[in-house]
Amino acid sequence: MSSSTSDRRLSELWNCVTLDEASSLINSTSSPFSLQNFVGGQYIAPHDSLTSSSQHITSFEPKTGRPIYTLPCTQPHAVEAAIKAAKAAFPSWSKTARAERSAILWKVSELLQQNREVFAIWESIDQGKTLDRARVEVDRAISNFSYFSTFILHEQTAARMVDGVALTYEHRSPAGVFALISPWNMPLYLLTWKIAPCLAFGCTAVAKPSEVTSMTAFLLGDIFQKAGVPPGVINIIFGDGATTGAALVASPLINGVSFTGGTQTGIAIRRLTAHQIGKHLSLELGGKNPTLVFADSMVPSVRERTIRVAAMAAFENQGEICLCGSRIYVEKSVYNDFVRDFTAYVREKYVLKQTVGAVASLQHCDKIRGYLELAAEQKATFHLGGAPPTLNEDEAQGYWIEPTILTDVAKNSAIQIDEIFGPVVTITPFDNEQEAIQLANDSEYGLAAILLTTDGARMRRVGEQLEAGLVWVNCWLVRELGTPFGGMKNSGTGREGGEHSRDVFTVVRTLHLPAY
Ligand code: NDP
Repeated sequence: MSSSTSDRRLSELWNCVTLDEASSLINSTSSPFSLQNFVGGQYIAPHDSLTSSSQHITSFEPKTGRPIYTLPCTQPHAVEAAIKAAKAAFPSWSKTARAERSAILWKVSELLQQNREVFAIWESIDQGKTLDRARVEVDRAISNFSYFSTFILHEQTAARMVDGVALTYEHRSPAGVFALISPWNMPLYLLTWKIAPCLAFGCTAVAKPSEVTSMTAFLLGDIFQKAGVPPGVINIIFGDGATTGAALVASPLINGVSFTGGTQTGIAIRRLTAHQIGKHLSLELGGKNPTLVFADSMVPSVRERTIRVAAMAAFENQGEICLCGSRIYVEKSVYNDFVRDFTAYVREKYVLKQTVGAVASLQHCDKIRGYLELAAEQKATFHLGGAPPTLNEDEAQGYWIEPTILTDVAKNSAIQIDEIFGPVVTITPFDNEQEAIQLANDSEYGLAAILLTTDGARMRRVGEQLEAGLVWVNCWLVRELGTPFGGMKNSGTGREGGEHSRDVFTVVRTLHLPAY
């Protein structure tokens, strides 16, 4: 494709300001859009990214099953070229004054804000999420850049005295070139959650989004160009995990990896990098998060909030958020009431008002359907879901799963143990607080937990015993970007957010100066 053709096609994407316009654009083109890698500050033609022009991946629209675009499956030699571009840019960017880096990243946040709706539209089309949900995530992507662009203007460092002998102080410098790898559930938000701090702290990067959802990452290249990010500071390459992702993380030129995705992939990345001891690894992995509902949270004054929070935690973004509460445990005395009210609320809010989108891919849809078949085989009770959803003609080939509420699922069933990562929730009764804690912690994962109670002492007593990196009490998904984000057990290692992100993207040396 000539550069003028690709420029024209890029501007067609930017010109879509409604979902209908974007859908018409997809329908009207005879061949799908082909995404291009963004390397050294410019988009590069597919033949420069590949060993052979046939190595393309097609991405499909979850709501309709239509092909939307193709992306290059970037091969190892082209991955290396992108890493070299990041390496060449590192000496200058790492020494660029904080104020200048800050101004450039602030500009990125402004440009994202100006194009908020376009990003939300393409995110919704590409991932399957509702437009409202996509808008929330674009807003969070904007905050990622505004937060870290100002964070670096107010940094402090620790100094200590050894009386009469020495003054010691901690000096931090950018850790080098990073691989930034993100999953398909919140594509723009999670990729920018890595890019913003990485660049703010003076590192350069090669980023790879999931092959399933690459569209908004593609548009980001244009934003970086317009914001004046110097060439090579951020490079965005496309491809699958096995080829492109593995070559990226394993490269000896990469100083650190910030990865969000599944636990098995996290294990594979650990293996690939095991002999590179100094490589920084931040792994944000899967979860199977518990929601604990105590009887005191079902009194009339707070019942509505309890049901709303538990439902939101289960079904927001089709349950495709690593922090979703997919195992609900309810105190026995209110169990029947909870199941009844929860089911009625989910039917009204998510099914009838159609506020759940399609799941991200056919492969993922089949995986979730497999768990639903297993639930039927194991004679679980379906309070909602289990049948194919009613679809219009346009959606018939899409990847739709109705919100599903299950009870009577055995403790050792795969449905109760595995991360399904879809709109499927189980509800189980418990007798007392100790049993609730034991059930909540009975998982290989430890990412998040939701605690619904009005008892102030219990909030701390239970909250502090839960094996989860994040505990929300009577709320869910509330975030402040400085708080440590990350999981325990098989949900990951390392924390990101504010100064914790600084730990990921910088190296620290201690200087000892004699006291004179
Ligand atoms: P995957 O682990 O399959 O993929 C994540 C990313 O890693 C993708 O870009 C993928 O590429 C890439 N990848 C796959 N294999 C390799 C490899 N060997 N080397 C390097 N990169 C590789 O996760 P999903 O995309 O399926 O996302 C869902 C998972 O993400 C869930 O488990 C969810 O809990 C977790 N998650 C965790 C979060 C957290 O903060 N803890 C937040 C959000 C999601 P490709 O897809 O192109 O193959």
